[in-house]
Amino acid sequence: MALEEYRRKRDFTRTPEPAGDPGARARPAPTRFFCVQKHLATALHYDFRLEHDGVLLSWAVPKGPSLDPATKRLAMQTEDHPIEYGEFEGVIPEGYGAGVVMLWDVGTWAPESDDIDAALRKGDLKIRLDGYKLKGSWVLVRTRGWGGRSGAKDDGRSWLLIKHKDEWAGDLDITAFAPNSVKSAGTFREILAQDAPDVWLSNPGATGEASLETLADVLKKLDALEPLPPDTPAPAAKTRPRKPSTKT
Ligand code: MN
Repeated sequence: MALEEYRRKRDFTRTPEPAGDPGARARPAPTRFFCVQKHLATALHYDFRLEHDGVLLSWAVPKGPSLDPATKRLAMQTEDHPIEYGEFEGVIPEGYGAGVVMLWDVGTWAPESDDIDAALRKGDLKIRLDGYKLKGSWVLVRTRGWGGRSGAKDDGRSWLLIKHKDEWAGDLDITAFAPNSVKSAGTFREILAQDAPDVWLSNPGATGEASLETLADVLKKLDALEPLPPDTPAPAAKTRPRKPSTKT
């Protein structure tokens, strides 16, 4: 159908232009990247990112995605990120978002409606995910504020991330079941412990030198999040309180 006018205007015995194969199938839909970056910064959250129009649309999901359709997860829309950030795993040494980033899931996504921009404006974006951990049909729905705090401004950035019922839904706690990186298989500790972790400088003028405060903060949170097994040889030998000095 679509090529009829193109063909009507051309005599293919006289032009080398291709007639177009009427049996040819439509081009496959473009592949769109998505990722989820587990981010230990001021607080632990999961950054959910969808490639669209040359950027990564981004939402911070404090509790991470849930495979249970009954569990709606708050997703605060954050600023668009550059596409190249999507494969990043490593350390943000200073400034906004300072902490550790783990590439927790990665894959492709497809919209379940034709007009992505209209769906975003409407605040109802139905998508299919094909990642390692997240698959099948999901929806992002814009919601009014959160927590019902009176006086809290509704800035239109509060969304809910919800799994649709399908063969990929279930009550498996995916964030607990598969806590590690899909890039390095590492934990936050292992990403931090690399000899030369990748570094992302988010602020212009950043020097890349981690502030001790930031690192100490992250390490404190790590103890709660990824406790070391009890039989880990402790650096206690160094930090054991010393006997009071009996110097004379
Ligand atoms: Mn983040």
